[in-house]
Amino acid sequence: MKKPHVLVVFPHPDDETFGPGGSLILHSKQGTPITYLCGTLGEMGRQMGSPITANRETLPLIRKRELEEACKVLGITDLRLMGYHDKTVEFEDREELTEKIYQAVIELQPTIVYTYYPGHAVHPDHEAMAEATIAALARLPLEERPVLYCLAFSINHRQVLGEPDMNVDISSVAQEKLQAIKAHYTQTALTISRYEAALAHNDTEFIGNRLQLEQYYTYKW
Ligand SMILES: [Zn+2]
Repeated sequence: MKKPHVLVVFPHPDDETFGPGGSLILHSKQGTPITYLCGTLGEMGRQMGSPITANRETLPLIRKRELEEACKVLGITDLRLMGYHDKTVEFEDREELTEKIYQAVIELQPTIVYTYYPGHAVHPDHEAMAEATIAALARLPLEERPVLYCLAFSINHRQVLGEPDMNVDISSVAQEKLQAIKAHYTQTALTISRYEAALAHNDTEFIGNRLQLEQYYTYKW
């Protein structure tokens, strides 16, 4: 039996929070180490905070600090910045990207991996990271591959993929996930009050797939 280890692979600071944030908190509460391979610093992010606290030059550094803070809240014990540039991951050498992820997989021997579902990740950076993650894991013999949970966001994903087979009730850690969302201040300052109000008033329509339930498709090889 391998020791539990979670590996998270996304391109942008905040993907880890908005995507599997609650699930990661639950893993960390069980004492499972979590490594995050974060592709970029989200330096092309459209938000600068409210009140504004960043400009185009300072945004990467500020987002790095925000990410570190969010990682503390989520229980991510090992943050690894891959150093790619926001919005250009799709143009990077795919073989090199795959190799970097593969090397991390060999080193860490993760038992669970989180990324996006290729074809249903909406943003080109998301698609590129997801495709490279799957290519990296596909290098392992089938029986050695970790469980791979994929997030899908495309409008038609339920029509194509059916219902998600992995449903995680995160309501017990909703406040902590909200703390992680807040940590990404430059990106979330404008919307955080919406989250707080929805949570306070138990507005299930809003908090449903944000602060109550996280859903994944287990990748079928
Ligand atoms: Zn993203």
